[in-house]
Amino acid sequence: MIKVAFFSTKDYDKEVFDEYNKKYNFDITYFSSKLNAETAPLTKGYDVVCIFVNDLVDEETIKILKECNVKLIALRCAGFNNVDMKHMDSSIKVVRVPEYSPYSVAEHAVALLLTVDRKIYKAYQRTKKYNFTLNGLLGFDIHGKTVGVIGTGKIGKCFIKIMNGFGANVIAYDIFEDKNAEKELNFRYVTLEELYENSDIISLHCPLTEENEKMINHNTMSKMKDGVYIINTSRGKLIDTDSLIERLEEGKIGGLCLDVYEEESEIFSNDLSNSYIRDKDLLTLLSMPNVVITSHQAFFTKEALNKIASDTFKNIQDIFLNGSCQNEVK
Ligand code: NAD
Repeated sequence: MIKVAFFSTKDYDKEVFDEYNKKYNFDITYFSSKLNAETAPLTKGYDVVCIFVNDLVDEETIKILKECNVKLIALRCAGFNNVDMKHMDSSIKVVRVPEYSPYSVAEHAVALLLTVDRKIYKAYQRTKKYNFTLNGLLGFDIHGKTVGVIGTGKIGKCFIKIMNGFGANVIAYDIFEDKNAEKELNFRYVTLEELYENSDIISLHCPLTEENEKMINHNTMSKMKDGVYIINTSRGKLIDTDSLIERLEEGKIGGLCLDVYEEESEIFSNDLSNSYIRDKDLLTLLSMPNVVITSHQAFFTKEALNKIASDTFKNIQDIFLNGSCQNEVK
């Protein structure tokens, strides 16, 4: 029987994976701890480790996984920036779930945008306390605004369709332009410079790579329109947080919608309501009236969780039965 060690497991993971495992019958152990060099010795005796976005498979962890004879790393997410592929060799395969529900993330990006723009978080708190005034709740129409989308893959395209529904003028940047999509979905590819200069709202939908780490920084934010809204549902490290805070304080950034955060790994997914938060940058961001942060929840819909569970198990079965899998990360 194939033995699978799950890391960073939450109750909702167990529920959905146990249900899908009725078909596969893998021997699963759920660990709540993250996978990293410290916890990697736990994998001794397991064939597969199943990990999520904030588990860390660096050079040291890979070394221990090899010593423990792990054959497969099954990411139950799309991004694989947390796995050091440079130090991986053929003794351990890596698979991921490249697509589970692009709608979940694109729709969450829009939810965040409307929350900040239309001050829904303030309005909710006010009406709960029987305060029915409108002062301070003034928003703007998305209709007619220029929306810049960075990354026109699966999620970026869904986001573009929704923005078209609002009547926005959509421009986009991608290192690989999809000319068919440009025609069909009614948007225009521009250079990154043009996108920064012309967008009222910028939404990030590209993966984190060595090349684009901190692409949103002091310099690039200088090129943006005053009062620009930034949405990041991709990866926290795409934005330099220190410069972001400076630019928010100056009023250069008009609104910020974050589902991911540069230093999220020790914070997001944990209940810290009775703890001291030592991350001063996060505290500053949370104190700002035009910032809304969710803790990497954009993927979190029933449809997405079901697809993640079914595809993760199929990936594992493909590798062990057929020796290959179309979702292998090379
Ligand atoms: P995808 O692979 O379908 O599309 C990514 C696109 O980005 C591709 O078209 C690619 O060419 C482009 N790209 C790569 N590097 C770029 C760069 N430097 N500049 C501009 N474009 C670049 O991926 P997807 O499914 O659309 O997911 C996008 C990202 O969303 C993922 O990489 C992941 O980081 C993030 N994500 C977040 C959540 C969440 O819950 N918040 C869930 C899933 C995915």
